[in-house]
Amino acid sequence: MPSKTFIVRAHARTIHTRPVTFICAKCHQATTRECYPGTPPKYCLNCAPKKKKASATRKPEKGMFKPTHHLVAHRTGEQIPVCLETSPDPGWFWVRTALDWFSGESIIQYHRHKGLYSRDKPLADYSLEEIASTTGI
Ligand SMILES: [Zn+2]
Repeated sequence: MPSKTFIVRAHARTIHTRPVTFICAKCHQATTRECYPGTPPKYCLNCAPKKKKASATRKPEKGMFKPTHHLVAHRTGEQIPVCLETSPDPGWFWVRTALDWFSGESIIQYHRHKGLYSRDKPLADYSLEEIASTTGI
């Protein structure tokens, strides 16, 4: 590969995007998108205004994503393998998918008694099912 010097972003403050899992406000599908910190998206890529952002390839480097539950969409029957990650709020867990596990975050939360929440609203269309063979949370 020929070498080239790029000064792109060399001195500017660089803000990295990271995958965030959320429920699309329009089609109510669980989805994971690249976004900038502090600005959680409202819509999935299908529903959002198009923006060019190539971020398909991301190679995992640390830890293994070990799904403990399935996030089940009642509407479609879709099952998304997720892992519950302890959140700062007592009793609450972050629902993490493989896509956001390494460098992203999720704004979907789960509480053993209160259930699933997204942006402080109950997620009625989804439920968590423990994956067999784990001793679950
Ligand atoms: Zn959508």
